[in-house]
Amino acid sequence: MPGALDYLNEELAKLDAQGLLQHIRTLEGPTGARARFDGRDVINLASNNYLGLSNHPRMNAAAARAATELGAGSGAVRTIAGTMTMHRELERRFAAFKHAEDAVMFQSGFTANAGTVAAILDKQDVIVSDRLNHASIIDGARLSRAEIRVFDHKDADHADRLLQESRAPDRRQLLITDGVFSMDGDIAPLPALVEVAERHGAIMMVDDAHASGVLGAGGAGTVDHFGLHGRVDVQVGTLSKAIGVLGGFIAGPRQLIEWLHNRGRPFLFSTSAPPSAVAACIEALDIIRDEPERLERLWSNTDAFKRGLHELGFDTGASETPITPVITGDEEATQAFARRLFEEGVFCPAIVFPTVGRGLARVRTIVTADHTRDDLGQALEVFGRVGSELGLR
Ligand code: PMP
Repeated sequence: MPGALDYLNEELAKLDAQGLLQHIRTLEGPTGARARFDGRDVINLASNNYLGLSNHPRMNAAAARAATELGAGSGAVRTIAGTMTMHRELERRFAAFKHAEDAVMFQSGFTANAGTVAAILDKQDVIVSDRLNHASIIDGARLSRAEIRVFDHKDADHADRLLQESRAPDRRQLLITDGVFSMDGDIAPLPALVEVAERHGAIMMVDDAHASGVLGAGGAGTVDHFGLHGRVDVQVGTLSKAIGVLGGFIAGPRQLIEWLHNRGRPFLFSTSAPPSAVAACIEALDIIRDEPERLERLWSNTDAFKRGLHELGFDTGASETPITPVITGDEEATQAFARRLFEEGVFCPAIVFPTVGRGLARVRTIVTADHTRDDLGQALEVFGRVGSELGLR
């Protein structure tokens, strides 16, 4: 009997025909620099576990302790009965980490972005957004019903012109950028953007999902990296990448945080994070402070791996961070590259259109503090061999 959802089979077949159907690999054990996916032990260059905290013994112990003492769940949304002492403690710690007045935790970086953009703008307002900003910013902008104007990637002059053109009395303007771009690993020109925002009286917001714990002193993010404290109104961070757990947060002035307590829809209408996750995040901040060598290792690994890829003749685009794409251009060749790398023991995903533009297909690598030089040397050897086999270098 035909079902009402049968059309999805046709849509899935179309995706499959275009090579766009997701084939999700399954992790059969903990994440780490080496991990087991789909029955194969590989060097894992696919995670966002930048500092190697996701399976750190202190994190695991903090999570287990919190679950034993406080239970597996929080029981309610934050505004009803789900705010625990530790949620507030984590928020105070994040405010300090970001040199901000206060902070608020969300269930993910995605909901932090989407919930905040939607809460601070209205339909008469305008959002001026980098072309390569994350999907959660785009969704938040749509939910806000504000007009969306997109500036060319990293082009502060273009952002300036869009703010000028869209200026009107009583119209609020938001200038928003990722701090580090997730597909290219390049860094936003934050000093120039901040100047533009200040000139127009626009709200300046930066999504530091890939910069928190990675850039700046002690991993404080792009604002710290560029010495722009006090000049960025809204800082977004995720607890799911370098912090190693799950969740998101917004850091900023007190009135922003109080507004989000009242109007941030994911905060109001979705249950708060469980004690295990919150306790592990607090522990992560302690580990980042106690083990600064993790951040140093992340960057020395990043430099060594990039250098190795360049010596092999690969194009790593504009990357300046631990996210290093290896751009091969052709969609099918890139899929074959990722498949052969995996078969030879190196896992990094193929990223193709529509996630990146046509002809800009790449495999994306992310090194972490936990990779040894041996891991990276082996990965480079495989890159060189498979790249030659497929004529990609
Ligand atoms: N912003 C950016 C730039 C990201 O790459 C991501 C994660 N893909 C997010 C936000 C969302 O973070 P989370 O995974 O915590 O929802």
